[in-house]
Amino acid sequence: MSLLWNPWHGCKKYSEGCLHCYVFRIDGEISRDASLVRRNLSFDLPLRKSADGYKIKSGERVFTCLSSDFFLDTADVWRREAWSIIRLRPDLDFFIITKRILRFYESLPDDWGDGYPNVTIAVTCENQKRADERLPYFLSLPIAHKEIICEPLLDEIDLSPYLSPNIEGVTVGGESGEKARVCDFDWVLTIRDACFSAGVPFVFKQTGANFRKDGRLYSIPRREQAKQAERAGIDLS
Ligand code: SF4
Repeated sequence: MSLLWNPWHGCKKYSEGCLHCYVFRIDGEISRDASLVRRNLSFDLPLRKSADGYKIKSGERVFTCLSSDFFLDTADVWRREAWSIIRLRPDLDFFIITKRILRFYESLPDDWGDGYPNVTIAVTCENQKRADERLPYFLSLPIAHKEIICEPLLDEIDLSPYLSPNIEGVTVGGESGEKARVCDFDWVLTIRDACFSAGVPFVFKQTGANFRKDGRLYSIPRREQAKQAERAGIDLS
């Protein structure tokens, strides 16, 4: 089972993949400014207890900071405390997704060492430019578990130079929402083929709202996007 933990909310747009960010989209619907970053009341969620122990039970995957970016500079004042919460729950698997991997060293706790064993860091790359900018650095870092996410996939990406044996998985998906940019199945297959050659697990998570296959463009309703990707049957484990 997996859970969400959003210690803070809000973000700053950073690269091409952020253009139609769902945090801004959803906040916009309730006239809230997503660029005003704030600490959430659920900041200490992983440490909260119920009658039979921690509310988040041992062994669960905790998707961390999905309504922001864990390495956002505005959150520097809160991150040390967030790391200490992560350290206090070694029985959970904290999954952190970031575009700001270049801020890694300035954002670490003193006792990071070779990486907390209960933390996976997944770097997002939406196009070749961002892959080339982020992944060589990512590969050099002391992180116990590393993954790559290409979502929203905006163009063809050659990931083959970056699929070293310590990349534990690659996830690919299109963009959702009314203004979604096109995701082409050929781009998905290019990444899948690179993963196959490197022996890296691959997941095609969802098609996005505007999906092109064999040159034909399809509008895919939100509820169908993950199902259509699954039907493609191209995941590698
Ligand atoms: S980094 Fe993530 S949360 Fe922040 S604006 Fe970009 S897409 Fe949104």
